[in-house]
Amino acid sequence: MHCASIDLGGSKMALHFSIAGRVVQRERIEIPAGCVPQSILEQAVVLLCQQIALYGPINCLVIASAPTINADGTIIRWPNRPDWEGLAIGPAFRIEGVERVIWCDDGTAATFGDATVMRASNLVHFSLGTGVGGGVVYQGRMLPDRELGHLLVWPGGAPCSCGRAGCLQAYASFRSLDKFVASMGFSDEATLNHWRLRAVQALALATANLVELFRVEVICLGGGMLGRFPEIPHQVGMLLREPGYLKPSLNPPLVMHSPQGTEASVLGGLYLAQASHEVQNEICEGGIDNSRVSIRHVSNGMSFISMSSR
Ligand SMILES: [Zn+2]
Repeated sequence: MHCASIDLGGSKMALHFSIAGRVVQRERIEIPAGCVPQSILEQAVVLLCQQIALYGPINCLVIASAPTINADGTIIRWPNRPDWEGLAIGPAFRIEGVERVIWCDDGTAATFGDATVMRASNLVHFSLGTGVGGGVVYQGRMLPDRELGHLLVWPGGAPCSCGRAGCLQAYASFRSLDKFVASMGFSDEATLNHWRLRAVQALALATANLVELFRVEVICLGGGMLGRFPEIPHQVGMLLREPGYLKPSLNPPLVMHSPQGTEASVLGGLYLAQASHEVQNEICEGGIDNSRVSIRHVSNGMSFISMSSR
C-alpha cells in the first residue's frame, strides 16, 4: 500500500510517504509569512507527482491539519493564517494518481498514531504548541471533535482565545507562555519555572479528570513545547501521584513523550492512511476518492457517507 500524509501547520507543511508501512520519503515546505497559499499547494502537488512517478499511484493521502477544514475540504477557520481561509485544500490534492484524500485535525492524527504505536485502548494525546490540541482514544475508538485545550482547569483564571477564562490552553501553550512572560516583565529562569509549574499543574488537573472518565492508561505529550521543556511529562506524572489529584482507587497513567516525537501528526496521518475505510470514516471530517464518495461527520460521533455532487 502506497500512502501519503501531509501535516499542515502554521509555519510548515510536512509530507511523508510510505510503502507497505515503511516511510520512504520525508519532505518539508516552509510557509513564510505573507506567502501565497496557492504556491505552497502547488509545491506539494509537485512532490506528490514525483512520488507517483517513482512508486505508482498513492492509495490514500491524509491531510492532518491545524486549521479547521469542513466536509467539502475548504479551510474555514485558521486564526494564525487568515489568508488561508476559504482555500479548497482537499480538492487541490484530487489529482491523477491519488486515489483517496481524507482530512482530519492534526491532534486527532497524532492521537491515532500514538494509540496505534502504544497499542493502548484508553489513551490521551496532548499537543502543546501555539495552542493545546490532542485527542482521546477510549476502548480502542477515537472520540471525534474533543477540544482538550478548552478543558476547564481554573474557573475565572487566565483568559483563553475561546472567550472563557481558565482553560488548559491558557496555561500550557506557547501563547500562554508569551502572555505570562509579558505580564511578569521578565523572561529569566525563575519566571519560566513559575510558568512551567502552572502548566504542569494544569495538565495534571485535566489529566486527573480524564483518568476518572476514561480510565486512561497512557498520556502522550507532543508538540514544540516539549522541545523547550522536555521535563513536563515526567513532572505531570509525578504530580498525579501526589494526594489530591487521583482518587486512591485509580491507577496513575503512564505519562510520556509521544513515541512519534515531533512528527506525531504527520506519522499519525500515515497510520490513518493505512487504516480501514470504516476507521477513516469514523475519524475524519471529510474525504474524496475516485468513486466521489464524501465522508461527512456529525456531532454525535457517528459518520455517514453521502454521494458528492462534484
Ligand atoms: Zn478556551
